[in-house]
Amino acid sequence: MALEARVDCPDLPSLAEHIGDCHRCPLGDTRTKLVFGVGDPHAELMFIGEAPGKNEDLQGEPFVGAAGKFLDELLESIGLTRSQVYIANVLKCRPPGNRDPIAVEIATCTPFLATQVRLIDPKVIATLGNFATRWLLDTTAGITTLRGKLYHVEGRQVVPIFHPAVALYDPGKKEALFDDFKRLRSVIDRTIERPGAAPVEEACAPEDLWGDGTDARDAADDGARTGPSTDDEGGAVTPPMF
Ligand code: URA
Repeated sequence: MALEARVDCPDLPSLAEHIGDCHRCPLGDTRTKLVFGVGDPHAELMFIGEAPGKNEDLQGEPFVGAAGKFLDELLESIGLTRSQVYIANVLKCRPPGNRDPIAVEIATCTPFLATQVRLIDPKVIATLGNFATRWLLDTTAGITTLRGKLYHVEGRQVVPIFHPAVALYDPGKKEALFDDFKRLRSVIDRTIERPGAAPVEEACAPEDLWGDGTDARDAADDGARTGPSTDDEGGAVTPPMF
């Protein structure tokens, strides 16, 4: 399971030190800067993206390019700023040419991400796009299928969301992203802002955040950093874990 493979580090600085000048996979040879993650180390809301792109690789910070600007806009639309959340990626190094992450890179890098999740201990995790969502939910299903429902992983609320980069390639998807963030806001309100007001079920069945299933959730693929890519591969969704 995604969060099981962890590194034994007491805090984020010691994890960063443990990762060091990483060359555990070949991306260490091609990256400029390793992108560890940024934000409030005790954030109750954590975002997980895919992998650094060109700007992130140069600056060593996640989501600082065009997709990042849009992420800031989306955050603002629900009354949040970057400094109130934590942002990390499935991969800490940029795949050359912004290609998709491959299995060995994900397997090598995600124990560090799982450790970040444990140390930050967010109540809500928003997974941005296919790679983050598939990793955390341990599924091969695509974001178009998974989006719109609430999952539970080790007691955390997981909200799969389209990757903000899809809107850069298809401005028609912007509305869907703003919709996703509205659903995220409602999960935050129920989970963090007003704990106890309306308990979020600990049931295994994912909750349908849209209720009527008629949202535009089928409208978009997740283009992530490189543009629209394949999405659903018909894989079954693994029941959410606790
Ligand atoms: N896309 C991602 O998934 N992560 C980043 O940090 C930037 C773009």
